[in-house]
Amino acid sequence: MGLVTLGCAKNQVDSEYMLSGLAAGGLSLTGDLSRAEAIVVNTCGFIQAAKEESIEAILEAARYKEPGGRCRVLAVVGCLSQRYAEQLKAELPEVDLFLGVGDEQRSLAALLRSALGEGPGGQSGCREARPLRLVETALQGWAYLKIAEGCSNHCSYCAIPLIRGDLVSRPPHELVEEARYLESLGVLELNLIAQDLTAYGRDRGKDHPDLEGLLRLLLSETGIPWIRLLYTHPAHLEEGLLELMGSERRILPYLDLPVQHAADRILGRMGRKTTAEKMRSLIRRARELVDSLVLRTTVLLGYPGETLRDFEALLEFIAEVRFDRLGAFAYSPEEDTPAAGQGGRVPRAEKERRVEMLLELQRRISAERNAGRVGRVLPVLIERALEPGEALCAEYGWAGRSAAHAPEVDGWVYLAGQRLEPGSFARVRIKEAQDYDLFGAVVD
Ligand code: SF4
Repeated sequence: MGLVTLGCAKNQVDSEYMLSGLAAGGLSLTGDLSRAEAIVVNTCGFIQAAKEESIEAILEAARYKEPGGRCRVLAVVGCLSQRYAEQLKAELPEVDLFLGVGDEQRSLAALLRSALGEGPGGQSGCREARPLRLVETALQGWAYLKIAEGCSNHCSYCAIPLIRGDLVSRPPHELVEEARYLESLGVLELNLIAQDLTAYGRDRGKDHPDLEGLLRLLLSETGIPWIRLLYTHPAHLEEGLLELMGSERRILPYLDLPVQHAADRILGRMGRKTTAEKMRSLIRRARELVDSLVLRTTVLLGYPGETLRDFEALLEFIAEVRFDRLGAFAYSPEEDTPAAGQGGRVPRAEKERRVEMLLELQRRISAERNAGRVGRVLPVLIERALEPGEALCAEYGWAGRSAAHAPEVDGWVYLAGQRLEPGSFARVRIKEAQDYDLFGAVVD
């Protein structure tokens, strides 16, 4: 049984649940698709590029079903399937099973066993029992904790509410139980994720804890030393949360705060419920309350109606605020979203030119901010030994991340040291910095 995961961190967590359900259902797992009797592709359907990547992965997996291949059952699950199941059924006859997102995925093991002609097997029959997760990253000392599903913000360019539905916050006791489970696997860094972390609890009434309340629970009920917040929303980030971050060293001084744009006219068309001035003062306040705060953001270029003046306003904002990390994307129209019907299309070449210009500005800012870390001694979570023959292996031998590096997006700390272990901390003196990566040696 093989599983291919595409898309975001939330999809990765879904795959970890599915892997555990499949194992509990008596299906043996393999990382080598050529040896799998059944293959599951967990897809992404967020934007055009991601959809194309998902289709390619499905066709790639289908090759293992060709004569001589071991694969007998191909299943497609996740966001693309949730959004386009009927169309995909018509266009992809090689696929045997389609499942969407959420609870449907709990029946995957039982459906695969019957498609393989095998009996009901282990516990996967009972949908109520939420299997624990198979968390590969725990060996590197970190894991994601998905605290909610869906989103009720309905930003006008975004298809996620159409795919994953409105916000559904997970019960805090369930999250504490899962965090404790991850801690028992050796997880030292817990990365909280959702579509909008700062909306946590808003769908559950005033007595339900919000994000700050959930964090206080995780701090008191676990001993996990590093807790990181990914995907907050500038319109929902409260001062109380910033004060808690500023006073609790186990909550990393790190915020992923997608601003998306900085021209109020465009922010309004996007439905972002905030303004450039509000975001400026929020960021100023956050840096006052949280010492050494590292800020990541995301921006969307070429939104319908974006003028050169709007783009310049964004460039000025980015040059002024100086984020540590920034992801920039060209707008792509998503059907059934309000933005898809808005006029004022920006030509593709011009969108890409604006993305390039903004990334070049950010590269310089990241390099300057990274240079400021040279000479400092930073706690680093060791993730892996570098492979022989890998660049830098001779000089450094190991790769890890500091509090300023979120997993999978922010680059590495390359380090030299003896007797190091993946999934453990080391104190590292930074000797050199590049645009995104740092280089140093372990100090005792
Ligand atoms: S907050 Fe994020 S996930 Fe939610 S609608 Fe807006 S862009 Fe989409």
